[in-house]
Amino acid sequence: MMEPGKVTLVGAGPGDPELLTLKALKAIRAATVLLVDDLVNPEIVAFAPPTARVIHVGKRGGCKSTPQAFIERLMVMAAREGENVVRLKGGDPFIFGRGGEEVEHLRRSGIHVDVVNGITSGLAAVTSLGVPLTHREHAHGVVFVTGHAHPGAAGPDWRALAGTARDAKLTLVVYMGVSGATRIQDELLAGGLPAVTPVAVVQRASLPDQRHAVTTLGRLTETIEREGLGSPAVIVIGDVIGAVAVAAQAEAKFRAA
Ligand code: SAH
Repeated sequence: MMEPGKVTLVGAGPGDPELLTLKALKAIRAATVLLVDDLVNPEIVAFAPPTARVIHVGKRGGCKSTPQAFIERLMVMAAREGENVVRLKGGDPFIFGRGGEEVEHLRRSGIHVDVVNGITSGLAAVTSLGVPLTHREHAHGVVFVTGHAHPGAAGPDWRALAGTARDAKLTLVVYMGVSGATRIQDELLAGGLPAVTPVAVVQRASLPDQRHAVTTLGRLTETIEREGLGSPAVIVIGDVIGAVAVAAQAEAKFRAA
């Protein structure tokens, strides 16, 4: 009988191939079939064996993305044929990557599935600015939140989040938030998060063409428009961002010395 195949959901990290885990690299090198998301750097896909079948399932070239159900069926079929399937996803597979849904589907279908963590883009984004996500004085915790509601669903309660973030001193890391930034800004302000709260928008974190802007909650939309920032980007809101200028100055001094 044919050996049963398996599926490994692998986090490709934010983009820089050097941010891959050794476990991720090992899984990619052992793959016979790879299903690759849009946000995965081609340099990472290039670690796959030349004989491996690579299937892109993202929204490349403005096409509609491959329907989720089709991707799930494809993985089950390939695993049943004995393939060693790697499902490569940007960042971490379990942070807004629909990894949870895929794992449930595979388990229901009786397919063995492993998950390899990746560095999530929200984490890499702030680190690239030289500041932490938590800080003993400025931030007691972090909230990873989506700015993109499921069609027909209400999405996050921004007003409630604003109060909690203010009172509990939490950093808010908003994924998929750039196109809905106006609403997020308005709701957070209405919920009581001060307009002077520092905000960073980081586009293509960890990649050579990374760009960012530091602003305040009151000026968020204005800044995104003026700087022409767009997807993929994370919006980081909270007092830890206030130290970005200090970190940049220290870095500049260090380089000049
Ligand atoms: N699983 C991914 C997130 C997928 S949702 C992770 O853990 O990072 C897609 C969103 O992730 C994008 O809309 C954007 O908000 C964010 N994102 C992914 N890669 C990014 C990058 N290199 N720089 C900034 N944001 C990124």
